[in-house]
Amino acid sequence: MKKIGKIIFTVMAVLSPFAGIAQEKDLVQYVNTRQGTDSRFEMSRGNTYPATGMPFGVHLWSPQTGKNGEGWKYQWSEDKIRGFCQSHQCSPWMSDYAVYSLMPMSGELQVDQDERAEKFSHDNEIGKPNYYKVTFDSGVTTEIAPTERGAHMRFSYPSGEPAYLVLDGYTHSAGIDIDPEKRQISGWVDNYRFLNQPDGFRCWFVIQFDKPFEEYGLWENRNNSLMPGKAEGEGEGYGAYVRFKPGTKVQAKAASSYISQEQAELTLSQELGKDRKLEDTKQRGFETWNKLLNRVLVEGGTEEQLRTFYSCLFRANLFSRKFYEIKENGEPYYYSPYDGKVHDGYMYTVNGFWDTFRSQFPLTCILHPTMQGRYMVALLDAQQQCGWLPSWSNPGETGGMIGNHAISLLADAWAKGIRTFNPQRALEAYAHEAMNKGPWGGANGRVLPQDYFCRGYVPYPESGGSTAQTLEYAYDDFCGYQLAKMTGNRFYEDIFARQMYNYRNVFDSSTGFMRGRGRDGKWMEPFDPLAWGGPYCEGNAWHYNWSVFHDVQGLIDLYGSNEKFIAKLDSVFMMPSTIVPGTYGGIIHEMAEMELAGMGQYAHGNQPIQHMPYLYCYAGEPWKTQYWVRQIMDRLYNSGEKGFPGDEDQGGMSSWYVLSAMGIYSVCPGTDEYVIGSPIFRKVTITLENGNKFTIFAENNSPENVYIQSADLNGMELDKNYITYGDINAGGELHLVMGDTPAKDRCTSRYAAPFSLSKRDK
Ligand code: CA
Repeated sequence: MKKIGKIIFTVMAVLSPFAGIAQEKDLVQYVNTRQGTDSRFEMSRGNTYPATGMPFGVHLWSPQTGKNGEGWKYQWSEDKIRGFCQSHQCSPWMSDYAVYSLMPMSGELQVDQDERAEKFSHDNEIGKPNYYKVTFDSGVTTEIAPTERGAHMRFSYPSGEPAYLVLDGYTHSAGIDIDPEKRQISGWVDNYRFLNQPDGFRCWFVIQFDKPFEEYGLWENRNNSLMPGKAEGEGEGYGAYVRFKPGTKVQAKAASSYISQEQAELTLSQELGKDRKLEDTKQRGFETWNKLLNRVLVEGGTEEQLRTFYSCLFRANLFSRKFYEIKENGEPYYYSPYDGKVHDGYMYTVNGFWDTFRSQFPLTCILHPTMQGRYMVALLDAQQQCGWLPSWSNPGETGGMIGNHAISLLADAWAKGIRTFNPQRALEAYAHEAMNKGPWGGANGRVLPQDYFCRGYVPYPESGGSTAQTLEYAYDDFCGYQLAKMTGNRFYEDIFARQMYNYRNVFDSSTGFMRGRGRDGKWMEPFDPLAWGGPYCEGNAWHYNWSVFHDVQGLIDLYGSNEKFIAKLDSVFMMPSTIVPGTYGGIIHEMAEMELAGMGQYAHGNQPIQHMPYLYCYAGEPWKTQYWVRQIMDRLYNSGEKGFPGDEDQGGMSSWYVLSAMGIYSVCPGTDEYVIGSPIFRKVTITLENGNKFTIFAENNSPENVYIQSADLNGMELDKNYITYGDINAGGELHLVMGDTPAKDRCTSRYAAPFSLSKRDK
């Protein structure tokens, strides 16, 4: 009987349309959400925290070791947890917003955030995308299983001692309403770091428990004063506490909304209504994540490479935050962090495009074109609401970093066939960005736009970071040009065509560096290419020399020959890792990370130079790309708490690894090309949203066999150093044969090189 049942089940599994799902491997097991958490102000190994949450989830959850408001909310080196918080943070430098925390404790009630902190050991901690668990030394256990806008939690208390749960309203104000009848705590918080949130910014929450309260009250975290028996109140730093029966296991379902208390309750019923047990929520989270991770199925790597790859793939799918909620009728709507009003449609925020246009979005275009299409519409809606295109939203616009890289996302989407938005609107929004200076930070509009347009560069010392700005503006103008050209808009095509070669205006051929330049046209003196800051942003001349994503051939021409260009590239790795702090006046973490990496002046810990190893493919020596990208992946990344060589940055550094480990990288978003590197794995199978499969098969691949000997695309010889988005999206196979010696006569011609404006011009 049993045997027959098993046979029938097997046949059904094969015939079922869901047969594919049955064959999915458990890839969630490889993800370590604590990757990169051994970070501190002076040295970042990721600056991550063990987020448990759904892909691009509205709210994530994390244990909290740092004080309320501290950017480093969880540090591997700490041994006490002071709460479990609703979290959105993408970087300690940006801090969090809309946070509240819950902390279980047994014995005496301790509300103070230092007093209540409990010792734990990492051995008693599990960090998975769909599940976080920790048991304190006190014996109290916390488990969390996330949904998109909420979480299912369980607190297990040892017997014989009073069992408390403390809710901390964090910094700023909070409103609390305890309803013992409903076994519910609801309320709101309004904390944020940046002052550019609309008036009335609030996050409403509701938490429902499955066990009754034996006692409850409010407290105030400024002076830790208790208000026993009080069920309702609001004020700065308000919190709540409840007591359960000793030895209880209590489940809590939580959900939040930026729109209203009613929406928070509706969301709770939408996302958690059916789940009786935490295990149900955990299982649903597992299925979502596992399905997503299986979309990039890798084979042939070591266990550690699988762990690193899937931990990075997890992180590449955490940011930006979805910022929309679902009405009762199933339609999306959102509270705008820009104008404070409620609008229909989709919204995404919490991302610094300076960090992510290079790798995270080009990866997202492959994996999530539908979401990317919604995102592009949301970008233009955000521009209407904010007055500026988002550049660093958290969740309102901060204008952090430099450049106007929203146009990179828009042009890239269009180039890849994601055409959900009105390109005229996008170009008008970008033109406004390119010709004006915005109110916040360096990246709403432009610094000294008149100088840039009239002189063709941003002058120094009038603007700190001027050379970096010039280079990034020129690339962004290329993206504007591209979008205009692709959509037949001659007006904007002509305008931006005049600007996109401006990188030439900051290249000093006498020293061979991109250099600071005064309004009088003279080069800045004294000049030390090792000096950080000044006309560069978070880097030095060695790092910014390569920021000509759209015209690498033009850059080669400035050097005069492939040989001279390659000698310069080689020098980056051969230089000593000497640090000259320059205008920073002291060591910043990016400098320390470069020194620790031990790869000369190659500073993978920060964005400006991360594409540079791929530039050998433009100059006839692709084998050096193949060598260096494997070195970087091997030496600078791992799956552990020291897993990254610098700030992870909203999936940016993870996406570099994911793309590179697959064997491709997007040097110039805004074109449809992915440059070929050297995959780690023998086989990578990407399942596209449209159901097609694209396989990258690297025959004879091994740690020594990093060099491509030959390549076929769908059975035809591939004599170029790139493939296109269309190649990937159509499905097919890139077949590489790997070896331990460079194939020095393969793909060396200008024809084989990826896109450059100057290549096309000739
Ligand atoms: Ca960075």
